Parts: sequence; C-alpha cells; structure tokens
Amino acid sequence: MVARHLHRWLLALVAIALTGLVAYAALRNREQAHPPPAPPAATPGIIGIPAGAVVIDTRHYRIHSTASASHAADVGQALEELRAAYAGLFPIPEATSKFAVVLYRDRAEFSRHNRSSPWAEAFYLDRACYAYFEAGARNPYHWAMHEAVHQLAREGSGFRRNRWMEEGLASYFSASQRADGRLHLGMIDPTAYPAWWLTDSATTKIGMPIALEVLLSGQGGPEVDTHVNQYYLSAWSLTHFLLHVDDGRYARAYRAFLQEGADAEAFARHIGPIDSIEGAWIAYFRAQVAAANTP
Ligand SMILES: [Zn+2]
Repeated sequence: MVARHLHRWLLALVAIALTGLVAYAALRNREQAHPPPAPPAATPGIIGIPAGAVVIDTRHYRIHSTASASHAADVGQALEELRAAYAGLFPIPEATSKFAVVLYRDRAEFSRHNRSSPWAEAFYLDRACYAYFEAGARNPYHWAMHEAVHQLAREGSGFRRNRWMEEGLASYFSASQRADGRLHLGMIDPTAYPAWWLTDSATTKIGMPIALEVLLSGQGGPEVDTHVNQYYLSAWSLTHFLLHVDDGRYARAYRAFLQEGADAEAFARHIGPIDSIEGAWIAYFRAQVAAANTP
C-alpha cells in the first residue's frame, strides 16, 4: 500500500511538472512572438554622435553618450532640473519629441567633434546640444546646462536670437545654484561660468560692464575675441538685474522683451529708457562684484 500510494503520488508530481513545462513553453512562444521593444533609435538628423555612444532617455531629453552611465545620469538630472526651472519662468508646451543632447566622455573627444569656436566648452547647433562631462571639475554640468538654455529658448520658446541677450539668458540659468533636486534661480553659483569672473579684478574693473546699447545691438563695443568674458559677464549681470532687482520689478517686462525680439526697440518699449536703466544696472553690477569679493 505504501508502495502503491507512493506510485500515485509520483504520478501526480509528474503531472504537475508536465503542466509547468507546457505553461513555460507557451510563455516562451509568446515571448518569441512579441519580442521586447528595441532600444531607442538615434535621433534622426543629429550628427557628431561618437562611435560606441548609447542612448539614455530622461523625461524630456534623449542623450547620446559615451560618458559613464553615472555621469550621463547626472547630466540628465541637471538638464531636467534646468528645464523645470526654465518652464517655471517661461511656460513652454510639452514637446512631442525629446531635446537632443550629445554627451562626450571627455574634453578630448569633444574637441575632436567640435564644430564651434576652438575655445568652446560646449555648443548648440542644428537642434542638438554638444557637451562633455568634466570629471573632477567643481561644476561638471554648467557648460551643458548653458547650451540647453539656447535649445529651450529656440525650440521651446521660439525666441528670436539676439546674441548677447540670449547669452545672458543662458548664463543666468547655468550660473544658478543646484540644490535639493532643483535649480534655484538667481542664487549665484560661483563655480559656474561666467559668474566665476566676478572675483577677477582684471575682468571686472576696466570698461565694465559693457555698455547696454552695445549688448543690445552687438555693435560698437570692444572686440569680442579679446573681451569675451567681459561680454558674457555683462550679459549675465544684466539678465540677473532685469529678473531680480527690486524684487523682480522688470521680470514681467523682461519676458515680453524676449518674446518681441530682444532688441533695443523692444527694450525701450517694455523695460524703459536705456540710459536710466543702464545707470541702475551699473550700480547693481558693482554690488554683485563687491558681494562676490566679500569673504
Ligand atoms: Zn551660449
């Protein structure tokens, strides 16, 4: 009896095992009929993607990266924080496609693919941001964030490009502090370009800031090639002034100014007379320099 019962018990076990095998085979067949989705394809039309790049998707960005997975994830996080802060100031629609980014593993690889100025640390061209992860730098994100603002301004807001106004806008965001998972607009990050020049007296003393009229027109000032940091610092400071002086008294007007072309005419129409605004801004710039140099 014991043997017979054992026999029946064994038969039951075999039956259960066979049922499991059939179920497993059916599952395998279903997997073969519906293969897992392919990895995301490269963004069409984006050139300069280095060999071996992988695609990393965040909610709003598609990053083609040869940087390490953790570096790419860090940059993706920084860009999402930037986009959230930007959209808070300049509401933009949810895009149907993601913003394209090419992230090189280091400066050497970036330089081999550089299609901008030889001194560029990142660039935005043909609907993609090109940057590299600056391992060991105090702030490895600010160059990528700067270019991503150009991308947001053009592709998100549709702002017309006026060179120094747009550089001021890009610098304003990328030189704001990241903390607690978000970008704190207006809190100056001394580890980011061009704010770090506030502590360099050779940059801030002579002929600074660049005249407002020159920044608006792009004409009549010192050579950009020999004064590039002065231009960027001035454009950054002007943007900070327009968004924050007197608790943001010009912030709304500044947005209208950008929407209407960001030229001298739009400035006078929305913000005020260039001469009187410039006087207040120069005092603001001097205070920024003094604050940055106060221990
Ligand atoms: Zn720029």
